[in-house]
Amino acid sequence: MKQILNFINGEFISTAKQFEKRTPLDNSLIGMVHEAGKAEVDAAVKAAHEALNGPWGRMTVVERTDILNKVADEINRRFDEFLEAECADTGKPKSLASHIDIPRGAANFKIFADVIKNAPTEFFEMATPDGKGAINYAMRRPVGVVGVVCPWNLPLLLMTWKVGPALACGNTVVVKPSEETPQTATLLGEVMNACGVPKGVYNVVHGFGPNSAGEFLTTNQNVNAITFTGETRTGAAIMRAAAEGARPVSLEMGGKNPAIVFADANLDVAIEATLRSCFSNCGQVCLGTERVYVERPFFETFVAALKAGAEKLKLGVPSDPSANMGPLVSQEHRDKVLSYYAKAVEEGATVVTGGGIPDMPGELANGAWVQPTIWTGLDDNAAVVREEIFGPCTTIMPFDSEEEVIKRANDTTYGLAASVFTQDVNRAHRVAGKIEAGLVWVNSWFLRDLRTPFGGAKQSGIGREGGVHSLEFYTELKNVCIKL
Ligand code: NAD
Repeated sequence: MKQILNFINGEFISTAKQFEKRTPLDNSLIGMVHEAGKAEVDAAVKAAHEALNGPWGRMTVVERTDILNKVADEINRRFDEFLEAECADTGKPKSLASHIDIPRGAANFKIFADVIKNAPTEFFEMATPDGKGAINYAMRRPVGVVGVVCPWNLPLLLMTWKVGPALACGNTVVVKPSEETPQTATLLGEVMNACGVPKGVYNVVHGFGPNSAGEFLTTNQNVNAITFTGETRTGAAIMRAAAEGARPVSLEMGGKNPAIVFADANLDVAIEATLRSCFSNCGQVCLGTERVYVERPFFETFVAALKAGAEKLKLGVPSDPSANMGPLVSQEHRDKVLSYYAKAVEEGATVVTGGGIPDMPGELANGAWVQPTIWTGLDDNAAVVREEIFGPCTTIMPFDSEEEVIKRANDTTYGLAASVFTQDVNRAHRVAGKIEAGLVWVNSWFLRDLRTPFGGAKQSGIGREGGVHSLEFYTELKNVCIKL
């Protein structure tokens, strides 16, 4: 049986307490994960602290970024191993993970190596009463040990989105991967060692949240900053933990993202993007669309086209090149999603397609599969329209005016992403400006330039990461004033 170990101070560490990792494909046991207790978490944080003052802390930016570029190359060299591990943990199609998860996981190191090398510093000359003046310049210094708490939906991609900039800026990290997806973080430990990343710079501790590795990490006072991606409720708990010691947090949290389709939209563009935003990664994307508002004259046409697209999606195992969707991440998550499928019907929904468990052959019948699902006929107050489900499902609702749809789209405690479909450029600008969200796409979805700010408004997030915006969190800006 595969043993999935912690990675502390450059070494793989086993523990006496272990938990099972089952694949959502057929619920079979694929590994035992070694859970870090408080002692292991404290050891990881201590190693990370010591590494700040070791060779890592003395490296020039060029030396550090050369290593990070090697890390990216080594992930790409071991691409197939990362792909196997990610797909076994999540059940997602290899066709998806080989285009998004693994290449982006590698690219995150290269991008932030470039960002830090090109980060400008500011300089101000000032007058003084004696006429000699003074100069000010700002320096970026690492924050210290960064605690990185990750979700399961895009495990390697979302972890490196934080580890990449944290290391580029000279910090050290202790990563707590999701208990559902432990493998790629551990594999990255081998890559770090192979690329000469000094011991203690990158550490991984496995476990759960409360009263486990997540809580031990976020409450450890030697962790200088915490970056988190996951549910809003968990983010609030992490913020409370970070309040002790007044430590900074970066929070990327949940969403209930709207798509707004005007009657002048290009149908093919709107359908292609909305199909992806509702169903890719089995609907387990924080930026995914769970509410679609369609201008009334276009409503029937849009519903029919999205239904036809959803019914063409093929569910299958990761190695099936024709599969568009895998299972949900776990049986537990499937129970949650199916409870919303039942609730939608109780709330009066018309099930346009799906709504249940698909017939899967053989052993796969034990997996966490659900049908891609579309509802209509729900009103704005339905739980299914208000709460994040995080599954392959969406509600389509008609609207009559621009003003009305903006109000309805914004009527949520979340504010992560939105997409707008129209061919009227003035309207596109107007609506994009009024949507309360951190990201708005017009005539597309998930088009990402990694230099741009990424994060959520309202209860979807605190802070922005991406490009130079990541530097705000991962560095401490220090002003030096020299009196001449
Ligand atoms: P989750 O909040 O359940 O877990 C995330 C991580 O937090 C896990 O590693 C978990 O073990 C840990 N954790 C849980 N309780 C903790 C505690 N009290 N202290 C410390 N750590 C704790 O989230 P999830 O189910 O893994 O991921 C799905 C959620 O993530 C969805 O809400 C989704 O919208 C969100 N998400 C957001 C973004 C974004 O960029 N905004 C990206 C991906 C996912």
